[in-house]
Amino acid sequence: MIVEETVISPEELKAAQYFHGHQCPAMPQGLRAGHLAMDILGVTRARGGGELVAIVETGDHHFSGCFVDGVMFATGCTVGKGNLVRKPFGKFAVTLVEPSTGRAVRVTPRYARMSQCLTMDFFKLRAEGVPPYELDPGVVEPLIQDVLTKPWDEIFQVQTFSHYPYQKVPEVFDAVQCSRCGELVVSSYATSYDGQWYCPPCLDEMLHALDSQSR
Ligand SMILES: [Zn+2]
Ligand SMILES: [Zn+2]
Repeated sequence: MIVEETVISPEELKAAQYFHGHQCPAMPQGLRAGHLAMDILGVTRARGGGELVAIVETGDHHFSGCFVDGVMFATGCTVGKGNLVRKPFGKFAVTLVEPSTGRAVRVTPRYARMSQCLTMDFFKLRAEGVPPYELDPGVVEPLIQDVLTKPWDEIFQVQTFSHYPYQKVPEVFDAVQCSRCGELVVSSYATSYDGQWYCPPCLDEMLHALDSQSR
């Protein structure tokens, strides 16, 4: 596959590192994977929640989870806009979907690449509990340059889809007042019970209270 790949500028890398909080190789890997997916689809960064959806497969509390922050920064698919979907599989992949056409591309770092990472000094130090921001830049910087400059197909493998099964969920612009706590709750999250609206935690509390009364 021939790809006109977007070059990640030093300014973009710097801004992404500011957003991310430290310098590490996993965030730039996600940054490049996000750009690669956009380049293959021929799309530009998401401004709203509808143009693109990124499905990421990293889980919680494991090495290289920083990958996702790079994906978010590159693609504009973020938690707040609701176009970042998490499938916590403990894998390093992003699938970028264009909902209007159903076209999608899944980008994942190659096995050889990721498994090699595990034996590097960077990961040994991280596994020993050294936080990434305390690591010697001399250890980190070459890894960042490597992930940004190697030919993409040495690092990543890609799959393309012409009809990715993605169900578009409409945005809700409605809310009600919870009759128990008095707070505002988006109507799709509220439940009506005995003619009153309840937010999820209040509904749970009320149902448990009913349960203890009936015993
Ligand atoms: Zn990081
Ligand atoms: Zn409530």
